[in-house]
Amino acid sequence: MLNIILFGPPGSGKGTQASKLKEEFNLIHISTGDLLRGEISKETPLGLEAKSLMDKGLLVPDEVIIGMISSQIDAHEDANGIICDGFPRTTAQAEALDKLLEIKSTKVAGLVELVVGDEELTSRLLERGKTSGRSDDQDIATIQRRIQVYKNDTAPVADHYRTKGKYIAVEGEGTIDEIFDRLSKVFQSLDEEV
Ligand code: AMP
Repeated sequence: MLNIILFGPPGSGKGTQASKLKEEFNLIHISTGDLLRGEISKETPLGLEAKSLMDKGLLVPDEVIIGMISSQIDAHEDANGIICDGFPRTTAQAEALDKLLEIKSTKVAGLVELVVGDEELTSRLLERGKTSGRSDDQDIATIQRRIQVYKNDTAPVADHYRTKGKYIAVEGEGTIDEIFDRLSKVFQSLDEEV
């Protein structure tokens, strides 16, 4: 399996690029943010619990996310591979993901970080907020908190995979097609390694 973590701060383009990459490489795209928004729209207990945290720009508890990841991996056992979008977001989630994949005799091939400056992130998120309907994209203080939570809690996930020799940085500014070309080359070389 070609399992790749598409990593980067909020607004770095993970969702946009994952949608294109999954077609190109025949992979499953799992986004914990999308799954949580699905729970919110169905008004499940999990969705209601998650909503208040998401609206504040805070992380949903690891146990909730790890449960979701586990059932998604089980649901896609026969997949060619997985693009992980929006997780792991903490070191605990990364350790849990590694164990879940090990049980399936597979592993993370690489963590690919989209590198984008803070100013560009903020302007992209505010722009997205005009049409996405996402309340966490509409308020500058919430956007800044999400970027801060990324730096504090999520950036260490990159170190977790860097020490395993699996970290790759990609320039995340430019046109969607330019960034897609850069990512495709990286995905291609990871595919050749597995
Ligand atoms: P995203 O769509 O990835 O930007 O996620 C939107 C929000 O959902 C985040 O700000 C968090 O509140 C929550 N969320 C998504 N994925 C995770 C995760 N892996 N761990 C914790 N919270 C998450």
